[in-house]
Amino acid sequence: MGATAPRERTRINLKKNDTVTVVSGRDAGKQGKVLKVIPEKNRVIVQGVGFVKKHTRPNPQRNIKGGIAEREAAIHASNVMIVCGECSKRTRIGHKVLGDGRKVRVCRHCEGVLDK
Ligand SMILES: [Zn+2]
Repeated sequence: MGATAPRERTRINLKKNDTVTVVSGRDAGKQGKVLKVIPEKNRVIVQGVGFVKKHTRPNPQRNIKGGIAEREAAIHASNVMIVCGECSKRTRIGHKVLGDGRKVRVCRHCEGVLDK
């Protein structure tokens, strides 16, 4: 049957300031803090990961010097895993509702709460 493939809705579970490890790609094994989350693209910017060189033209009117600037590029959220602050393992994210009704993200290994 020519059924259309269900659109996968992966919701990004990462938040700014999460500590993550890169699990695939050029920067695999690197660890850093999430600087920015781009939910609509399912991407994150991680401190010190995925540097790209950007060539900039000098523009004296805007006081921009020409040259090569390095900055972090957004990488796909599926290429990183959160690192648990409790057990220091990289983990998948689970969810739990606390006694006070607060919904938090938890570590799948040790049940440690990932949200501070
Ligand atoms: Zn843990």
